Amino acid sequence: MSRISQVAKTIFLWEFVIAMKLTLKYFFKPKLTINYPYEKGPLSPRFRGELALRRYDNGEERCIACKLCEAICPAQAITIEAEEREDGSRRTTKYDIDMVKCIYCGFCQEACPVDAIVEGPNFEFATETREELYYDKAKLLANGDRWEQEIAANIVADAPYR
Ligand code: SF4
Ligand code: SF4
Repeated sequence: MSRISQVAKTIFLWEFVIAMKLTLKYFFKPKLTINYPYEKGPLSPRFRGELALRRYDNGEERCIACKLCEAICPAQAITIEAEEREDGSRRTTKYDIDMVKCIYCGFCQEACPVDAIVEGPNFEFATETREELYYDKAKLLANGDRWEQEIAANIVADAPYR
């Protein structure tokens, strides 16, 4: 065997020993990866996910159609139309959000005086068509109904920091 191939063999063995040492070092440590989607990591109460419109416990919509969210949205993703009800309260007749435009800044949630529009904890939403990302009021209210428990818990958890 030539001297060059002997040196190459020694280097290979040395690297193999280093690699095995590294493997054994991490083999018995707790794993850092998770088996997503069966396992999920923690989410901050401030996580800004899919938008939702909330209701009060009695089922009434929280939104009072003040349009602050529409005015503050930097992406101009929100479109609201409203009218006065017979009881004198103002409610939206149309509340659309173009989720293609939304940049998940959370300004609408910050501006809302009644915690109606919120960015919920859902980050697992996808569509096959662009049109499905134009959320109307029914879709946003359905999101609110589905995630109300988690959204309410997040608002309570975040309250001391506001
Ligand atoms: S999160 Fe930001 S961009 Fe998205 S709708 Fe609200 S204000 Fe607009
Ligand atoms: S969601 Fe909130 S900020 Fe937007 S119109 Fe309704 S009450 Fe006003």
